[in-house]
Amino acid sequence: MSRLSGGDRRTVKEVLATYEEFIAGVMLRTKGGVEIYPVYFARGKEGVDMRVIRDVRDLHIAVIGLGSGGSALADMLVRYGVGQLPLVDPDTFEPENINRHILDNGYIPPISKLFPRLKFNKARAVMWRLRDINPNVSVQFIGAKFSSLPERPDLIACCTDSDACCQLVNQYALEHHIPVVFGGVHGAAEMAEIITLIPGETPCYACYEREGPEPEPSMEKYTDPNYDSTRAPSHPGLWADILMAASIQFRAILDALQDKINPLILARLRFPYSAEVIRQKKGCAVCSDKMEGLSLEH
Ligand SMILES: [Zn+2]
Repeated sequence: MSRLSGGDRRTVKEVLATYEEFIAGVMLRTKGGVEIYPVYFARGKEGVDMRVIRDVRDLHIAVIGLGSGGSALADMLVRYGVGQLPLVDPDTFEPENINRHILDNGYIPPISKLFPRLKFNKARAVMWRLRDINPNVSVQFIGAKFSSLPERPDLIACCTDSDACCQLVNQYALEHHIPVVFGGVHGAAEMAEIITLIPGETPCYACYEREGPEPEPSMEKYTDPNYDSTRAPSHPGLWADILMAASIQFRAILDALQDKINPLILARLRFPYSAEVIRQKKGCAVCSDKMEGLSLEH
């Protein structure tokens, strides 16, 4: 075994390991502002209607809700090359989120085992993650419940479990004339529901009548505004279901940017995989003063 001369008793392997750690540290500190993936991100331009948006880097998409689906979607958006991404979520990132979240243990401070209140806000931690993927992206976080946005985005991606929050986003978007793509899953994530709202053109989130009996107690996430998604029971493969739903939502966003609108997509995430586009009249009590719009289109 070769040993370094002098008083250093470490093996070459040990010295190299220290060197690697040092280099990794330097790279992490200096990568800000460096165009790491210029070719990769340049390809994103092809998917955007050039008449409306000149470059995918000019796109400004707000993500509301950075839980399972929102974090996966934000990851897809930043890799696509979206330039500006405000993130909104009031919750902290917990160890029990890891089995269905884009973040990992590195975003849970070891000291939080002793001091449980010392945890990171989900939106803040996802902001760090997105900057790791593309140091040139402009990301801001709002660590509170959604009420408004500091700047008007080109589109809102609504990824929250809370029906009350979706209704708020719906009203805000109608008021400020901002397109929204809502994404979520039903029940044990067997069905993805993707709603595209273009104010003045499509039905809004509230136009869709939720049919059938009142939700079961296990479905409180659709009715209870204080519902905590981090305590939802998990099931095998939930992360894969979430990724499928987030992928369909991402595709709906690309379609909306190119004026290809499917107002409501219901996609079955179990065999036999299938999807249908539901058409409905626009004009409910929220998006107009016409109450007859509540009936289904035949
Ligand atoms: Zn409506």
